[in-house]
Amino acid sequence: MQIEFMTLFPDSVMAMMDESILGRAQKKGLISIRAHQIRDYTTNKQNQVDDYPYGGGRGAVMQADPLYRCWEHVKSECQGTVRTVYLSPCGKTFTQADAKRLREYDTLILVCGHYEGIDERFIEECVDEEISLGDFVLTGGEIPAMAVADAVCRLVPGVLGDEECFTEESHWDGLLEHPQYSRPEEWHGRKVPAVLLSGNHGLVARWRKKQSLFRTRLRRPDLYEKVVLPSKTKAEKKFIAELDAEWPEYLEAHGKKE
Ligand code: SAM
Repeated sequence: MQIEFMTLFPDSVMAMMDESILGRAQKKGLISIRAHQIRDYTTNKQNQVDDYPYGGGRGAVMQADPLYRCWEHVKSECQGTVRTVYLSPCGKTFTQADAKRLREYDTLILVCGHYEGIDERFIEECVDEEISLGDFVLTGGEIPAMAVADAVCRLVPGVLGDEECFTEESHWDGLLEHPQYSRPEEWHGRKVPAVLLSGNHGLVARWRKKQSLFRTRLRRPDLYEKVVLPSKTKAEKKFIAELDAEWPEYLEAHGKKE
């Protein structure tokens, strides 16, 4: 997986991307991340990349031409399948399903806007899709682009210890993850649930699955609506019956009522 950022702040982006898990994955050659300075592709002395918006109004707009020159150069160095993404509050909101989908490309070119955004003609000509981090406006596309790069790269085989590192996490299968605990067994008078100390892997797995379902039902009813639990076998039916029986207790423990 190759990630190519187009940005006005390549040093800031690389400072973050070279850290921790993604930094180590780059050193191992599992992923490659580069950040390109859009200003290097200007043809004016001041390396200006923006100009006033046609039609009037506040602020400045990033011009199509420096973006295009940068994009052409980056693209000429890419191999395999390439997807160009513009990070934009007008795009589709990013989800784990998008991370899974984008992982299938060999290269992602992530275009980071600034000021009032970028000239629409560049988007029409070069961008395959627009992605938003959420319904709010940031000053630049770097943070959303880094979020997308991080979410995609951690799904590349070998970047995390094994597949289970991400297939058991929130949003992989439409559920939120169960709560997590570490040492000590008691902290500020709060105890780790006894089942997690039992050493019984079957019971732990069952408890985690229930917690995951309860948490999703409580916090994200929109996700829970789509959950389909298997209900053919006796064991599956028993599990569902337990969920129904334990739900009021879970609600009460979380200070809620049905
Ligand atoms: N004038 C634009 C609008 O109202 O849609 C906002 C421009 S914003 C100040 C500057 C840049 O930040 C954008 O070009 C985009 O790259 C990035 N950006 C801001 N909010 C974002 C979001 N929620 N998701 C993705 N990118 C965002």
